Amino acid sequence: MNKSVIGTHDCFGCGVCSVACKKNLIDLTVNKDGFYEPIVNIENCTDCGLCSEICSFKHHEDSFRPVISAYGAWSEDPSVRQSCSSGGVSYDISRYLLGKGYKVCSVRYNAETNRAEHYISYTADDLNESKGSKYIQSYPVDAFKCIDLNEKYLVVGTPCMISSLRRAIKKFRREDNFILIDFFCHGIPSKLMWDKYIRYISKDVGRIQSVSWRNKFSGWHNSWALKITGEKKEITSYWTNGDKFFNLFLSDSCLNKACYDNCRFKYDNSLADIRIGDAWGKCYQDDEKGVSIAVSYTDRGDAILHECGCHLEPRPLEDLAEQQMKVCPQRPGSYDKIIKLLHRDDSTITRLYRIIQQRKKREKLRRRMRRIFHVVANAMLKIIR
Ligand SMILES: Cc1cc2nc3c(=O)[nH]c(=O)nc-3n(C[C@H](O)[C@H](O)[C@H](O)COP(=O)(O)OP(=O)(O)OC[C@H]3O[C@@H](n4cnc5c(N)ncnc54)[C@H](O)[C@@H]3O)c2cc1C
Repeated sequence: MNKSVIGTHDCFGCGVCSVACKKNLIDLTVNKDGFYEPIVNIENCTDCGLCSEICSFKHHEDSFRPVISAYGAWSEDPSVRQSCSSGGVSYDISRYLLGKGYKVCSVRYNAETNRAEHYISYTADDLNESKGSKYIQSYPVDAFKCIDLNEKYLVVGTPCMISSLRRAIKKFRREDNFILIDFFCHGIPSKLMWDKYIRYISKDVGRIQSVSWRNKFSGWHNSWALKITGEKKEITSYWTNGDKFFNLFLSDSCLNKACYDNCRFKYDNSLADIRIGDAWGKCYQDDEKGVSIAVSYTDRGDAILHECGCHLEPRPLEDLAEQQMKVCPQRPGSYDKIIKLLHRDDSTITRLYRIIQQRKKREKLRRRMRRIFHVVANAMLKIIR
């Protein structure tokens, strides 16, 4: 048996193995279901095992730290708060750390390649593209390859990516140079679904120029609003009005297999210094500008939250995170059908959307039948008694 990640399929696709390989033998490619996974150049691999050692998918022995503090948080700069997904706390932290000599490795959308990509910000201007969540898997390798372990970096990523990064910086004894931020993560949808969605939208708006997933035109609570600018026009498509991407993503219809089967990072399980998220729930139910949850796991993380200039309100995590997922999402009954259709070039996003609409109707009917059954059963019991 080899010690490397050779033959690893359906992993988190975090890409850290690809940059850890000293011989540069690991490519990160999109697999048949539309998720990143490593391909190793077997011929030249010496089986040193480093790629596997830093891989969070292959190692389950996490040493999660206890939460230090949890806060409702938002940027004091109204334009930042308005343009970020929730309170804009990740932007405030990034800007603060840039000022302290860090470089920031976070995510932007590349409309040429239709993908989210990690990139490195050196100035506050560079940071603008990092604002807002891109609800697709990010390609990290090019940015990670520019990281010099002897300099200071803030890295923002999914919890599974941050877990591999934590292993890597520990292994290379560079923890002091890094601040890691992850987020409460719902899961990552297939790139094949995103490609179909973009093909469908492009017919209307022309070649896509920019995409932003979260917009507060009608408030934070209704901010699942994709704004897509094309050559011909700009559209806004709301989850609540049947946006096809959001409906497929938020119904867990085509997430990465590892999100259903292998995610160990729900709720407060994090290897980051700081975890962020949307403070949905009762605490801020009347706020329409947006509030982030910010959770600190290290003293450095907690100090940064206090120094970065954002507004902080300490609160119990269970109140702030009452609506966050505590366990992995479940595959819906139509999962295999959806994945099969994703493989086919001739199937459209509309067809996939119809499947989940039918599923929702069936579930509604089943719930109604169950209610009727209970009412009838109770009435019969009363008669019998
Ligand atoms: C795939 C995905 C799933 C998420 N699931 C949840 C959830 O279940 N619950 C919840 O409360 N919050 C979730 N979030 C986080 C949430 O969308 C906000 O990022 C969070 O509320 C913080 O808001 P903000 O205003 O500070 O930051 P934002 O303006 O949203 O900035 C977020 C930061 O994350 C980086 N980023 C954006 N897209 C990605 C990406 N694809 N991969 C890695 N980093 C990225 C940005 O560059 C930025 O630094 C998810 C985010 C993503 C990308």
